[in-house]
Amino acid sequence: MESERKVEVGEKRGVRLVLFTLPLQGHINPMLQLATILHSRGFSITFVHTHFNSPNSSNYPHFTFIPISDGLSDAQASMEDVVALSAALNVSCVEPFRERLARLLSDQSEEPIACLISDVIMHFTQSVADSLKLPRIVLRTSGVSAFRAFAAFPILRQKGFIPIAADAELEAPLPDLPPLRVKDIPVVDTQNAETLYELMDKSTNQAKSSSGIIWNSLEHLEHESLTALRQELGIPMYPIGPFQKYCSSSSSSLLAQDRSCIAWLDKQAPKSVIYVSYGSIAAMTETEFVEVAWGLANSNCPFLWVVRPGSVRGSEWIDALPHDFLETVSGRGCIVKWAPQDEVLAHPAVGGFWTHNGWNSTLESICEGVPMLCRPYFGDQRVNARYVSDVWRVGVQLENELERGAIESGIRRLMVGKVGEEMRMRALKLKEQVDLSLEKGGSSDQSLEALIAFLSSF
Ligand code: UDP
Repeated sequence: MESERKVEVGEKRGVRLVLFTLPLQGHINPMLQLATILHSRGFSITFVHTHFNSPNSSNYPHFTFIPISDGLSDAQASMEDVVALSAALNVSCVEPFRERLARLLSDQSEEPIACLISDVIMHFTQSVADSLKLPRIVLRTSGVSAFRAFAAFPILRQKGFIPIAADAELEAPLPDLPPLRVKDIPVVDTQNAETLYELMDKSTNQAKSSSGIIWNSLEHLEHESLTALRQELGIPMYPIGPFQKYCSSSSSSLLAQDRSCIAWLDKQAPKSVIYVSYGSIAAMTETEFVEVAWGLANSNCPFLWVVRPGSVRGSEWIDALPHDFLETVSGRGCIVKWAPQDEVLAHPAVGGFWTHNGWNSTLESICEGVPMLCRPYFGDQRVNARYVSDVWRVGVQLENELERGAIESGIRRLMVGKVGEEMRMRALKLKEQVDLSLEKGGSSDQSLEALIAFLSSF
C-alpha cells in the first residue's frame, strides 16, 4: 500500500505493556496491529491470549506470547454463538488471567509493566487489574458510533425498541441516535438475549471505569460520536486509527490465505472486479448462497468471492453451487476460502467491495478508497453500514431479502452506474482525508502522541 505509514522502531522505553484480546479474528487483528504500533514506539509487548483461536506467534518474534487456559468446553469453544462464547470467556478466564498477570507483575527479571490494554468485551479484566493495582486501558475494536448504540441498549429496552418486535417500523428513525433507524439497532442473534444485554452492559460500565479508550477510528469519520461519548464517559479517548494504515492484518490471520487470487486479479482490467467477502463469522442459508451465486453471474462483472468453509449453513464449502454455475461464469469468477484481504482491496483491478461491514473490513475499504455494497448481518455491522451509505456516502445498502435480481442490480449500480462512479470519487476523497489524519500534526497522529505520553506516565 503506497500510503501505508511505516512503523519505525523508536527508542526503547524500558516499559512493558500487557495486551489481552478477545479471541475472534476481527478483534485479534486490531489488537496485534496496536501492539505493533506501540512496539515501534519503544514499548515491550507481552501478548496474553487464550488457547482458543490463538494467534500465530511466529509472525511476531519481537513480542512475548503467553497462552492461558480458557477453560471452555468443546460445546463452548465455537463461533456459532459469539455472544455466548464471549460471556463464557468472561467467566472461565478470570482465574487463569489473574494468576498469570500476578506472576508477570512479580517477575523482577523483566521491565516493569506500565498498564494492561484489554479488549472492551473482556470486561472482567477491570476487576482483575484493580485487585492488582494495575491501570487498565481498553481497546474498542468497533466504531465509536456502534459503541454508543450498544451503550444505549438499556434505554432502548426501556422504550420498547428492543427486542425488535415482529411488527416494528424498521425504517423509523431511532431517537437520540441519528442517523440510525430501528433496523440498525446492533442486536446479535444468540440463544439467550439477556446474555447479550448483560455482556454489553458490563463491557460499557467497565470501560467507564478504565483509564481510557483506544479507538481504531478517527476524528474525521466519527467526530460527532466521539464528542458525545467524551461528554458521556468523561475518560480520555484516543482515536488513533485506522491501524490498517500502519501495518497489514495478514500476519494475524487465523486461516490460511489463498494467494492465487492475486495472480487472478493481475489479469483483470482496472477497477473491474467486485470483491465479495462477509468476514470471519457471518453465515447464510444454502438458498441465500445460490441467490448470491446467480446475482454475481447475472451482473456480468468479474468477481472474487470468499466463501469461508462453514459460512453456508449445512454445507462444507461450495457444495450447494448449481452444477452449471462454474461453466456460466468460467474465467470471470474466482472463488477462494480466505483471501489476503488488505492486498485484494489495494489491488488496481478491484473496483468495489460487497461487504458485511465488519468494522475492520469497512476501514480497510475506506483506506483503499474502494466503494461498498453493504449487506450487514448482525451487531455493529448494521451501524457501520448506515454510516457508509448515509453519512460518508461511499456505499449503497442491499436491503430486503437476498434475491438474485436485487443483487444483480445492486452490483451493477456499484460497478458500472453513475451512482457508483460518484461513490468512487467520494471514497477517494475520504481516503485522502484518512491519509491526512495520520500525517504529522493530523488528528490521529496527535492522538497517538497523547497516548504514548499517557502510557509513559504510569
Ligand atoms: N479477512 C481476511 N481474509 C478474508 C476475509 C477477511 O484476511 O478472506 C480479514 C479482514 O481483512 C478483516 C478481518 O478478517 O481484517 C475481518 O474483520 P471484520 O471486522 O471485518 O469482520 P468480522 O470477521 O469480525 O465479522
